[in-house]
Amino acid sequence: MEEQKKEHRLLLMPSPLQGHITPLLHLAQILFSKGFSITILHTLYNSPDPTSYPQFSFHAIPDGLSESETATLDAVNLTDLINIRCVHPLKEYLLSLLSNSLQSVPCFISDAALHFTRSVCDEFKLPRLVLRTGGASSFLVFASFPLLREKGYLPVQESRLEESVVDFPPLKVKDLPKYQSNDPEAFYNLVCRFVEDCKASSGIIWNTFEELESSALTKLRQDFSIPIYPIGPFHKLLLTGSASSASLLTPDKSCMSWLDRQEHKSVVYVSFGSIASISEDEFLEIAWGLSDSQQPFLWVIRPGLIRDSEWLEALPSGFLENLGGRGYFVKWAPQEQVLSHPAVGAFWTHNGWNSTLESICEGVPMICMPCFADQKVNAKFASSVWKVGVQLENKLERGEVERTIQKVMVGDGAKEIRENALNLKEKASACLREGGSSHCFLDSLVSDILSVASSASSDH
Ligand code: UDP
Repeated sequence: MEEQKKEHRLLLMPSPLQGHITPLLHLAQILFSKGFSITILHTLYNSPDPTSYPQFSFHAIPDGLSESETATLDAVNLTDLINIRCVHPLKEYLLSLLSNSLQSVPCFISDAALHFTRSVCDEFKLPRLVLRTGGASSFLVFASFPLLREKGYLPVQESRLEESVVDFPPLKVKDLPKYQSNDPEAFYNLVCRFVEDCKASSGIIWNTFEELESSALTKLRQDFSIPIYPIGPFHKLLLTGSASSASLLTPDKSCMSWLDRQEHKSVVYVSFGSIASISEDEFLEIAWGLSDSQQPFLWVIRPGLIRDSEWLEALPSGFLENLGGRGYFVKWAPQEQVLSHPAVGAFWTHNGWNSTLESICEGVPMICMPCFADQKVNAKFASSVWKVGVQLENKLERGEVERTIQKVMVGDGAKEIRENALNLKEKASACLREGGSSHCFLDSLVSDILSVASSASSDH
């Protein structure tokens, strides 16, 4: 059986953003462990490091992006350009590969945002599976964008923020995905386009699990007449530590020995992912709130996180000295290791889907501060559905920060949140065991890929 699968090469292409590259490389590792040969197709922009994955083949698809484009354009504009400029190079690659390969290529696995792969795969009659790196609940909202617009919920209006969104409990208008950009229509159009092209795929693979998002997954199965494979959490299927090899930035591991010196469940880990940015004023309010909370904290200040600032220079003089070692700053953390450290008591997160899932897997309560896109939906689910966190609801201000930290770490509700987080952690682990939901969906994904391969070979 394993030998039979080695004859099959799977082509996988990530969208070139950290939150997309990591889960796609994890999926590739999972499928490799099931015996498939793997080729990663990638843009030149943010290309993954092939030396971390000697077991895979890598092939660059020239994206034609200039340095000034990658430096100035936002993620939506960049994705739009990739969807245009990679069409021709991908066609050329497939033409050459499919006419020369001695192995069968049963399918192409594309990140959902790379919708251009649909027409290319159709042209080569190559079945296309989609990897959606976000959650299923937020995808359901994306899939309803035209309806939400028809009902007047979108574009989001300031005057309606507190209104409940009918048919999407517990979402309010303020929880709907939003993208701050010069061209708000570009986000709406990209979402509608990728949803349509997901619907037309041979199946969607999700880095989620049935027990976490059962109602969204059930609804998606009703609305989409294609297989839905929730086989996550991906990183928990892999050996510990293998996730950092998918990192575009080098993690600063010095924070681990600092964590070793902190008390059990005392540390607030603060990270807003790979894209979100904050103003200098927001940075200062967070810093003062953390300092006033008296809790130790580990804070990721990624290059580009603070607009118009490089690092910690905006902090008032004496601030760091007054912390007395209670705060530790890094430019990039080994996040999975940090979250699994016994000293970490809460994760102040922007609720990117990977961060949300990583926190769930370690049973770490969240302080939710969503910034854009699906993060608002994820934050609402974390705080109001799974009840494993608290949202920073009001203006980002030091007093509010301090109160919210206390609420999650020591307040009346903190115990309940911690218990919910531990229950959910157990579910995230159980679904991967033999007979668990993700385990079974992974088996069906593998057997569906093999059956495509065998029907293609019998056609020849
Ligand atoms: N991450 C990390 N170190 C950091 C901050 C983030 O390894 O210091 C990883 C994190 O573990 C997650 C990814 O970067 O896997 C961020 O993805 P997410 O979906 O949470 O947010 P995005 O960056 O897409 O906004």
